[in-house]
Amino acid sequence: MTYARQLSHKQQLVSDALVRLGKFEAAREGAPLVKPIMGMEEPWRYRNKAQIPVARSRGRIVMGFFERRSHRIVDARACLIQHGANDEVMNAVREALSTLSLAPYDEHTRSGTVRHILARTSHASSETLVAIITNGRRLPRRRELLEMLRARLPGLVGVVQNINETPGNRILGHHEVTLWGRSYLNESLAGLRFRVSPRSFFQVNPVQTTALYEVACSLAGLSGTETVFDLYSGIGTIALFMSRRAGRVVGVETVGAAVDDAVANAALNGIENTEFHRGAAEDVVPGLLRQGVAPQVVVLDPPRKGCAQELLALIAAIKTRRVVYISCNPATLARDLRFLSERGYKLEAVQPVDMFPHTKHVECVTSLVWAP
Ligand code: SAH
Repeated sequence: MTYARQLSHKQQLVSDALVRLGKFEAAREGAPLVKPIMGMEEPWRYRNKAQIPVARSRGRIVMGFFERRSHRIVDARACLIQHGANDEVMNAVREALSTLSLAPYDEHTRSGTVRHILARTSHASSETLVAIITNGRRLPRRRELLEMLRARLPGLVGVVQNINETPGNRILGHHEVTLWGRSYLNESLAGLRFRVSPRSFFQVNPVQTTALYEVACSLAGLSGTETVFDLYSGIGTIALFMSRRAGRVVGVETVGAAVDDAVANAALNGIENTEFHRGAAEDVVPGLLRQGVAPQVVVLDPPRKGCAQELLALIAAIKTRRVVYISCNPATLARDLRFLSERGYKLEAVQPVDMFPHTKHVECVTSLVWAP
């Protein structure tokens, strides 16, 4: 599909989900429900993160992408949606493994060492961080490997070994050792600075993330005094972004490491009106409300499966003035918006943003107001 065609296709996907699954009207007073999707001006080389499987095929090292519904790797030299430095990492690692005769992991015999490579490059700082995911602690010829990577990758700031001994599809393990340099990347996004470690979630398209957060912030209608809940807060990017225009922002996130990153990132940016809680939103929010913390605005940014119903019911029960719901899955979005609209909310705006050009994925920001 041409890029223009991709955009109109995604626009239609969102509209269809809201109409068919959400039972909303496709247009109201002559205006379409879904605003024109925000595409990228330059929809290439946008991704900051690559996770590349490694294997041996007919005596050669292959790195690239799985064939659809298989574990056969299509050997690739470039991926045009990746930052060029991530392609360089892939090619440098392939060459090094081959020169040093380092065996990739074989998932059938469970022998060999290197399973995956994770490369992260910051568009803002041009720094690259590499994680080598291995099946066990042993990494033979590691000094030569590091020398080869450092010689070929000018932006390299650190190499981390991540150990994953479990069979199956999970890429990263829980244990990590820094082999050389730093264990994190300096990133910046929407005028804020962030430290990102290999295991934390960070938006993959920095250009469109800024656009997405701008839309979310303007739909939140902040005047500078509101208490905002940022639920599913990750490393705190939305909370920190909105903190400049709110009285206080309270983030809730299940992954402990991400909560630690969020707290560190607040300090890094000198922001003092945010706080972060660890736990599932549906478990933590009732406690916050009991302590008398009442939000005027709730931001929801859940994973693909959407929100827990009890959380949505709670938001409606306290008549939160405004809800901004960010979603990467139109089907669960439609379901959750329907639930809220049956409990007193009016769907105000639906703005798709193309965070993932040349893939089938589509992201949406929506806003609802309490209007029973
Ligand atoms: N808002 C962030 C992260 C969004 S990704 C950003 O823009 O970068 C969704 C996040 O929700 C992940 O960090 C995931 O760990 C977290 N999460 C998943 N289930 C959750 C739950 N029930 N309650 C709170 N956080 C949850």
